[in-house]
Amino acid sequence: MTAPHQPLRVHNTLSRSLEPFTPLEEGRVRLYTCGPTVYNFAHIGNFRAYVFEDLLRRWLTFKGFQVTQVMNLTDVDDKTIRGSQEAGKSLEAFTADYKRAFFDDIRTLNIEPAEFYPAATDHIPEMIQLISRLMEKGYAYSAADASVYFSIDKWPSYGKLAHLDRDGMRSGVRICADEYDKENAADFALWKAWDEKDGAVAWDSPWGRGRPGWHIECSAMSMKYLGPSFDIHTGGVDNIFPHHEDEIAQSEAANGKPFAAYWLHCAHLMVDGQKMAKSKGNFYTLRDILARGYTGREVRYELLGAHYRAPLNFTFSSLDAARTALHRMDEFMMRLAEAAGSVAPAHLPDWANACAGRFEAAMDDDLNISAALAALFDAIREGNAALDAGTLEAAGSAAVRELFLRWDAVLGVIEKPDEAIPPDVRELLDLRRSARAEKNWALSDSLRHEIAALGWMVKDTPKGQTLIKA
Ligand code: AMP
Ligand code: ZN
Repeated sequence: MTAPHQPLRVHNTLSRSLEPFTPLEEGRVRLYTCGPTVYNFAHIGNFRAYVFEDLLRRWLTFKGFQVTQVMNLTDVDDKTIRGSQEAGKSLEAFTADYKRAFFDDIRTLNIEPAEFYPAATDHIPEMIQLISRLMEKGYAYSAADASVYFSIDKWPSYGKLAHLDRDGMRSGVRICADEYDKENAADFALWKAWDEKDGAVAWDSPWGRGRPGWHIECSAMSMKYLGPSFDIHTGGVDNIFPHHEDEIAQSEAANGKPFAAYWLHCAHLMVDGQKMAKSKGNFYTLRDILARGYTGREVRYELLGAHYRAPLNFTFSSLDAARTALHRMDEFMMRLAEAAGSVAPAHLPDWANACAGRFEAAMDDDLNISAALAALFDAIREGNAALDAGTLEAAGSAAVRELFLRWDAVLGVIEKPDEAIPPDVRELLDLRRSARAEKNWALSDSLRHEIAALGWMVKDTPKGQTLIKA
């Protein structure tokens, strides 16, 4: 294990440069990650962001930091309200289905759970309190339509994250300012007054019935679970403006303290040169991909394998390449296990030590995963050659195997022998998980029989499906 004081450098969107990472409190990292809007299944573009955050979390843990991660669930906004109305369900029942689906999906992708998953609707009082504080301090105003807005004119550093040209921004938006009750069209809503499109969704507030704006959620919930100042805030690059810019303005104006010290943003998952997005209709959910016979592990590897700041183009042939790469890892792990038997690990051979050093140096360099994986595959090549030549004896094999398992605490993609469920059974299990999430009990039962025919018994527990070899 590397000592916590080893240098890690990360790219901070605030400075647009690489900075050495130093936490506010020694040995501890407080991390806020913007979570899903639960009105539909998340698509794999969203999961690129969550897999990147998982890699960050795992690397920080590897380095010995104690990580406290918060990921919010946006369960009230225009899309969730519209979706619940179209489905003829209450907002709560509608979003509960997609919250469950989200947790199923992150398990399928082997994403480590965050410490807190606060839902917006459980934190309305905290948001009202925060807005009240902004009103008292003169940063917010209640408009004629009973909505409350943040006045960006009162906050001179507005634009520091997105590196906005404030003068340009103001003159640009003034043109359409008449359409709004806002003092400045760039002001953003902290509280949205109820209108008939909101149906039954409304909460009482000092400014009348309504609901919170999206940005205030993340300020209120990060503050509650991580304090006014914390270490790292992440999201996809589309979150930089306005969402994260607005979070900074609200939080720093209310607290008079710096908000997040480091801002890390991942590039988009693309399809044919365009961002994968629900609005563009060019998206795949994880379930779409599993239904085509790929596994969560393969999708994870594909999303993980490119540097987080580089755009990644999604194709099925790259998923096939992920499958091949994983197969190579599995084969090597199997060879090591056979060669090691029950012998205790000895020192690592020199070539493995060198690869270990390269892996760690790469990850410390702003999570340079491509270089880290190159070190891992070099170790596979060297290891296979040594096994072929008979120069890697049992204790050395055990040590190399241990190194790979240590790496896998970061990567989360290596098949452990005791998890060796055959791919066809795994696939059926994934399908059955989706069938159960959709309450398709008939399909769930027929999948159980198919799994039994392959020699495995599936049991449903409160934690999900478990398998026993029949
Ligand atoms: P949303 O549910 O749209 O708020 O998005 C949730 C998270 O997914 C945010 O951090 C977004 O920045 C991120 N995201 C959305 N689309 C993509 C994409 N195509 N590639 C990477 N991240 C994305
Ligand atoms: Zn957020």
